[in-house]
This record gives sequence, C-alpha cells and structure tokens, in this order.
Amino acid sequence: MDYKAIVIGSGPGGYTAAIKIAQLGGKVAIVERDLVGGICTNWGCTPSKAMITSAKYAKFASEAESYGVLNNGFKIDFERVVQRRDEIVSNSRNHIRSLLDHWRVDILHGEGEVISNNTVRVKFNQDNSEKTFETENIILATGSTPHTPDFVNSDENDNSIVSSNRLVSIKELPEELTIIGGGIIGLEFSALFSHFGTKVRIIEYMNRCLTGMCGEISEEIQKQLVSQGIEILTSHKVLSVKEGKITVEEITTGATKILDSQMTLVATGRDPVFNTQSLDHVGIKYSKKGIETDSKMKTNFENIYAIGDATGHSVLAHVAMRQGIIAAENIMGQTSEMNYDVIPAVVYTLPEVASVGVIPEDMSGVKEVKFPFSANLRATIEGHDIGFVKLWVNTQTQTLLAAQIIGDYAGEIIQAYADIIALKLNISNVTNIIHAHPTYNEIVKNSLEFALGRVIEYV
Ligand SMILES: Cc1cc2nc3c(=O)[nH]c(=O)nc-3n(C[C@H](O)[C@H](O)[C@H](O)COP(=O)(O)OP(=O)(O)OC[C@H]3O[C@@H](n4cnc5c(N)ncnc54)[C@H](O)[C@@H]3O)c2cc1C
Repeated sequence: MDYKAIVIGSGPGGYTAAIKIAQLGGKVAIVERDLVGGICTNWGCTPSKAMITSAKYAKFASEAESYGVLNNGFKIDFERVVQRRDEIVSNSRNHIRSLLDHWRVDILHGEGEVISNNTVRVKFNQDNSEKTFETENIILATGSTPHTPDFVNSDENDNSIVSSNRLVSIKELPEELTIIGGGIIGLEFSALFSHFGTKVRIIEYMNRCLTGMCGEISEEIQKQLVSQGIEILTSHKVLSVKEGKITVEEITTGATKILDSQMTLVATGRDPVFNTQSLDHVGIKYSKKGIETDSKMKTNFENIYAIGDATGHSVLAHVAMRQGIIAAENIMGQTSEMNYDVIPAVVYTLPEVASVGVIPEDMSGVKEVKFPFSANLRATIEGHDIGFVKLWVNTQTQTLLAAQIIGDYAGEIIQAYADIIALKLNISNVTNIIHAHPTYNEIVKNSLEFALGRVIEYV
C-alpha cells in the first residue's frame, strides 16, 4: 500500500481529515484538481467574509459622524477591497498548504478517481499523466457546487447570470444586483454589496427570507436589509432568467411581471459533487442529496469514507471539519461518531444572524423568551443595540433547547449558547458564572436569567 489513506478534495473537510490522520501517525495524500483549500478558502467563507469586513467599514464610515468623528464623506475604493480580499484568500491558502507540508501530507495536484476500494487514479494537472495509487482507506471530500434551477438560461454566454464563485472574485462593483434566493448566501451577498452602494434586490419564493429561523428573526433581518436600501420580493416565483430579464409570478395573485436585471445571482442552494460513473463502478451508494454514510462517516464500504458538502448533511465548513476528524479517527483505529445535534450557524449580514439547537414542535414545558440588545450596556455604548436574542428553555430540566440571535457579533455570542446546549448545562448554574462587564457576552447570562424570571438589568 502506498498510503494509509488518500483524501480526494482539499476543502475544510479534506485538509482537516488529512492532517488528523498524519497527526495520528498515518501516511496520507490529498488529491486536489483546483486550488488547495477548496470552496471555503477560495470561493466561499474567506473571500465573502473579507468583502463583508470592508462593507462593515463602509457602514462604520457612514455612521461615524454620530460618534463625533467627522470624515467629510467617504468613497469606496473597490480595487483596494479586491486587493485586500485576494491577499487574505492567498494567505489563507498558503497557510493550509504549509500545514499540510508540516504534517508531510503529499499533495497530488490533479483529478482523483476511485477505481476500486483500494485504488485511486490521479490524472495530474501538470502534464495529464496518470498514476494509480494503492491505499488502505479512501476519503471522498469532493464538496459541492451551486445548484442551477431549470428556470435559468442554460446558455453559458449569458453574462447577466453569475454564480457565487464569480461574485466572490469580482473585480468591478456592479451597479445593480438581483439575488434569487433569500437564504444564507443570498442575504450575505445582499448585505455586502448594498453597503458598497450597489442597488440590490432579493427575490424569494417563500413568504419570508431565512426560513430556517423563527419568524421574528426573519422579520427583523428583512426590516434591517430594507432599511439599508435592499428591495425584497417575497412570495415571488421566478419563471425564467435570461439575458438581463427575470420573469416572476407573484404567488398570492398569480400576476406575472418582467424585471430588468443587469446582474443576477442564483443562490438557491448547492448540489453535492461526486463522480457518479466512478461511484457506480465501485458500488458506492449515493442519492441526489449526497454520498451515503453512517455515523462514522463510512460509506457502504468499510474503508471508504465521505465527508463535507458531498454527503449533503449541511453546507457548513465546520460540519465538514468535524466529519473529517471523525473519519480520520476511525481510520486510525479509534471509534468516533458524528453528532449533528448542536450545530451553530451564522449569517454574516450586518447585523449578523445566528442560531443553534432545535426549536421543539411541542411547546409544552417550554418557555420562549426574547431579550433585547438594548438591555446590554456594551451594545448601547457602542451603538450596536439593534436586535435581540430568542431562547427556548425546558423549564422542568432548566436546560436550553435552542437560541437564535439577530444583532452585531451574534456569530461570536452564539457559541456560548451552543456550549450550554451541547453540555446540557443547568442554566441556573450558568448564570452564577461571573461575566465581564460591560461585554456583549453578558447577554448570555442576562438572557438566561430573564428566562428564569430573575434578571436585574431588564424588566
Ligand atoms: C459564497 C459562500 C460562502 C460561504 N460561507 C460560509 C461560511 O461563512 N461558513 C461556513 O461554515 N460555510 C460557508 N460556506 C460553505 C463552505 O464553503 C462549505 O461548506 C465547505 O467549503 C465544504 O467543505 P468540503 O470540504 O466539503 O469541500 P469544498 O470546500 O467544496 O472542497 C472540495 C474540493 O474538492 C475538490 N475536488 C472535487 N472533486 C475532485 C476530484 N475528483 N479530484 C480532485 N479534487 C476534487 C474541489 O476542487 C474542491 O477544492 C460558504 C459557501 C459559499 C459558496
């Protein structure tokens, strides 16, 4: 055998798994046909958050006068935004490459294909040569790609339609942008481009955006986005997108209209990536949703694993990373199982939205509370007092079931609630922990105290 494991795909799932195997003493190779770091580093998390950071500074600049800072107007230098974004992406990619080098993971630049349960063929990018490697285990970490619905013009020359890949590597600021899909990716792009001055419109089929969140949070984020100048059309079904024209049907009335759209992003979800021919040939089970795995991340083969977006469990980098660790540990003789119960999710809009846990369908014995950012001193001092936390608490066990937040730094605050849920902590005990004052994290203690009916800072 050439390797203990070959990992196909170097996104967050793939590189995490490869490094963990190496740390546990296994000889491992990673096959990547494109840029090291996968979607997350090159076309997802990193470039989008780098641009959102610049957008945040544009927001701060627009609000500076109310803080007593006169800036006599400000201007977006999008070339600099692009340069900063690209530097961050390249540094992040180099960092991952250096980690792989440090752990002596062989990086094979080319297309990987599973030939049998012990064989991977690599067609090298450099010279199209092919080589077959024998391996004890295989991990499929091949990621996902934007879903293209049938209503989208299939003509690839239609430049009015862009993918998220193109938007995160865009060099010129679009004047107008229509986003089809009011989910996480759609909302993040809407927030970032609107703060740069792009005229943004969102079209959503459902009657609200972010349908994974509770109604109050959806309503509040829509209100915030509209106040930033974004047009949101909910309950609108897109019938076709072609050459700068979008035909929509208003679901409640059935009326149709044609909207002009210079640039249209289709953000209606992602499809798992895998080579069906190879999976069929070897007999690896999959569905349209993704490659099938058990809780150890094993496919129907004892020594073939699948992780990350390719499994269709979620489209989150941190889930891919955890799955990577589970696969690696099982390969190296430990027994680890994936647990999907507590997965924090963050929407990097301005303000941010975050959630963790599951809102119970049966609300008996469950207390639902809402605690505002305006009752948090740090938030009011800094002028970030828009938003609130919603909690769902089991009153009998005094445990937290779910938390959802809209407000600045929601993505940072949510982890405390995730820990409380995952560790099944008694919330009364959590409120006895001293929290520094004034901090945003005091909202965790105070919201829990509010749920227990004994908060000091809010009535
Ligand atoms: C715009 C955008 C923003 C996002 N923001 C966030 C965020 O803020 N937080 C978050 O948690 N998630 C975010 N995501 C989702 C996140 O990027 C994915 O969940 C994550 O990248 C999945 O990791 P992965 O390891 O499964 O695969 P990927 O990162 O998709 O990587 C798969 C890799 O496999 C390679 N590959 C595929 N087939 C082969 C083959 N046959 N041979 C060789 N190589 C192959 C591909 O080239 C690719 O590099 C975002 C996604 C997008 C599109």
